[in-house]
Amino acid sequence: MLLPEAVDDYVGADNPVRFIDAFVDELDLSAAGFVRVAAKATGRPGYAPADLLKLYIYGYLNRVRSSRRLELESHRNIEVIWLLRSLKPDFKTIADFRRDNRAAFRSVFREFVLLCRRLDLYGRELLAVDGTRIKAVNNKDRNFTRNSLQDFIRAADERLDDYLRRLDEGDIEEGGTGDGARTKNLAEMIEALRQKRGRYGAMLAELERTGESQISLTDPDSRAMAAHTKVGVGYNIQIAVDAKNKMIVEQAVTNQVVDMGLLTQTAEPARAILDVENIDVVADRGYFKIEDIEACEKAGLTPHVPKPQRGSSVRNGFFRKDEFRYDPDQDVYICPAGETLSPHHEGKLRDLKKIDYSNPAACPACPLRSRCTTDRRRVSRLENEAVLDRMAARLKARPDILARRRETVEHPFGSIKQWMNQGAFLMKGLDNVRAEFSLTALVYNLRRALNILGVEAMMAAVRG
Ligand code: SF4
Repeated sequence: MLLPEAVDDYVGADNPVRFIDAFVDELDLSAAGFVRVAAKATGRPGYAPADLLKLYIYGYLNRVRSSRRLELESHRNIEVIWLLRSLKPDFKTIADFRRDNRAAFRSVFREFVLLCRRLDLYGRELLAVDGTRIKAVNNKDRNFTRNSLQDFIRAADERLDDYLRRLDEGDIEEGGTGDGARTKNLAEMIEALRQKRGRYGAMLAELERTGESQISLTDPDSRAMAAHTKVGVGYNIQIAVDAKNKMIVEQAVTNQVVDMGLLTQTAEPARAILDVENIDVVADRGYFKIEDIEACEKAGLTPHVPKPQRGSSVRNGFFRKDEFRYDPDQDVYICPAGETLSPHHEGKLRDLKKIDYSNPAACPACPLRSRCTTDRRRVSRLENEAVLDRMAARLKARPDILARRRETVEHPFGSIKQWMNQGAFLMKGLDNVRAEFSLTALVYNLRRALNILGVEAMMAAVRG
């Protein structure tokens, strides 16, 4: 008798579920690409996409992502009962909705970014770009590279030779009858190994045919990639995060195993949706690639990416390249001994012209030679390397920007993997995991926005 009479009385004015309801009601779902869900059982009506979208946003926000658990919540969870007005879709309907509308979830993520932009939740001054691996539905044992397949085949051939030799010996010992238990076991092992070798050979041939570097059997789109010190099979998640409130502006899922080359394609859509002419972008040294840095500048982005310390000079403990000063007026390098290195040789790096600078006369008698080279030192410069000089000057003027990068990107990745428990995908295939991550990024932003502004202010904004 003391219980409230209406379901609505159980859902407080500051309950996030009210915002989910209002936000989805204001979206143009057919423009976003959602299609009406067909009825799955005779006599039942189809479900409006808005209801199932609300269910998914609620579920991801509350760490309930599987269709079976979402179905369960629609029966027992008062917030879901309120949100769906007592509708109870079965798990197949729920799963089909996510699969059939996988391309449309990205639009919902972007609509929420636009809302947050209107609410000044983005500072629109600094973007931090970073990538992480999220585990795929593919065990490491079900992923093969060319090298691992070649190793397997080599080892299988050696074992086959060994088995065949032992089989011959067994035949001799058993008087050539070949029907002893030992011979029989060996014959079975040989057959099993031959079949396995055949499967590996077929996979290797497939890699040769497609030009791919690896093959995953459970989720063919996933790839083995490194994350910190461990290698696992997953997808590479790229995000561009605005530094003001650590909210995601752009997100993308790829199966490229390294971050190099992904800076502009992640940051440029973020700049566009934030509607700014120019914006600072910071990323770690894994993104350092001269063509990408140049593309950033052309796209209205001001990149800050530290140069990785690599190359034979660094390995040998010799003077690093940044200890040589380039003089653009004279087109020469000044080395640590004060000598002038002039252009001497022209070559290529990828499609870029590369010029080697040296001073063969000065090096042999140089007192610093043991710290510089074993012979004559050469310093290479690419045709568009002025772009890297400008970036080095910017980083020198703003050393704090790298610390800001770390704290900006750590928050979303840490929250998504730890607090939101979304460090592994549930679905297979690139298009499906893209839909999943659009929902994950959306609810990360949603929770940030609700924490900062509160439910009622967000409701007013969405309805205003
Ligand atoms: S070894 Fe050559 S390049 Fe190196 S510091 Fe001496 S003169 Fe300069």
